[in-house]
Amino acid sequence: MLISTPEPMISTYHTSLLQRFLQYVQVETTANADSSTVPSTPGQLELGRILVSQLQAMGIENAIQDPAGVVRASLPSNQFPAAEAATLVFNAHIDTAPDASGRNVQPQVLTYQGGDIELPNGLRITEQKTPELNKLIGQTLVTTNGETLLGGDDKAGVSIIMEIARHLTTNPDFPRPNVLFLFTCDEEIGRGVASIDVPGLNGTVAYTFDGGGRGIVNQATFSANAATIEFKGVNIHPAIAKDRMINAIRAAAHFLSQLPADWSPECTEGDDGFLHPYDISGGVAAVRLKLILRDFQTEKLLAQETCLRNAASRTEEAFSGLKINVDVQPQYRNMEDGLRREPRAMQFALRAHELLNITPKLEKIRGGTDGSQLTAHGLPTPNLSSGQHNIHSPLEFACLEEMADAYEIGLQLVRLWSQESR
Ligand SMILES: [Zn+2]
Repeated sequence: MLISTPEPMISTYHTSLLQRFLQYVQVETTANADSSTVPSTPGQLELGRILVSQLQAMGIENAIQDPAGVVRASLPSNQFPAAEAATLVFNAHIDTAPDASGRNVQPQVLTYQGGDIELPNGLRITEQKTPELNKLIGQTLVTTNGETLLGGDDKAGVSIIMEIARHLTTNPDFPRPNVLFLFTCDEEIGRGVASIDVPGLNGTVAYTFDGGGRGIVNQATFSANAATIEFKGVNIHPAIAKDRMINAIRAAAHFLSQLPADWSPECTEGDDGFLHPYDISGGVAAVRLKLILRDFQTEKLLAQETCLRNAASRTEEAFSGLKINVDVQPQYRNMEDGLRREPRAMQFALRAHELLNITPKLEKIRGGTDGSQLTAHGLPTPNLSSGQHNIHSPLEFACLEEMADAYEIGLQLVRLWSQESR
């Protein structure tokens, strides 16, 4: 049972958003965690150059790409002097996830008519595994040919923000605060905010367009720490090891056996946090174990750390002569804590949805976003939908009408913030 009409019906209103999106997804911008260059891959610079030239063509002469590949462009308030007006930052990331190839992306545009969607290479996006499809009948979807990911994560967000820029430059009287358009690189490998001087942006609030279907607003993420545990044993030939060898591998196993088994990602969901060993290496003489600590309540990370330190002490007691070093480093913090300091960030996000009769759905992210990093550095940044689905996969698709809604929400935010001071 198929699905699509060959010639989708797209209103002229959506044409430029669609054309922009189709152009951007065809530039390969896959992030590479093994690369030490900034940004990690040259394609991100290439797409960034396209964005700069398009922003300049709109008349935003200050559009630049910095050496790290980050693209910025800004428009001053047309309501208040720039120094007094609030500064609204819109952010999306240029890179795509390394989980699936981003080379030679061949987007397919269809009007969804129900049922499964068969991609050109034979892969299927099934109703069973993608239940949100039943809400998208009659809408314009962009899929891949099944060989690559699409990159709607986050080129949908990039396209939405570029269309907002186009609207504001072609309608100079549309009431606006200071608006900063910010496109980051390497979000997918956790480096999105690394090169940015966040206080230097002088932002009052930021919104990332990097979420799922229609109306989802993410106002909470995990708080996160990372732990590295080093077990230092003593190696010696097994023939003469009695009372002399201290086996770091057995010590690490003893340590792990003391961690509560139900405090793990495989046993938790919803509001519950976890402690997750994810990498181990070494031998008899030394073992290095890496873990991540996650909870929505930042103070619970301390209880997790205490659990690790207690397990380490007990292991040292059980293995005479063994030394254990526990190192815990902060990674990111639940954005909810930072958003409380700027209540307008969420108030206006919800108001923008209501003005368009879109019911906002508040969801917590069991992970982090660029927004958690920006919020942690003092710039409150909720995350908004951008019409992405089945991300990081050849089954990825984007919904044009959801992207258009996100664009309208962005314009409402511009209007709402235009009357605010910083
Ligand atoms: Zn993303």
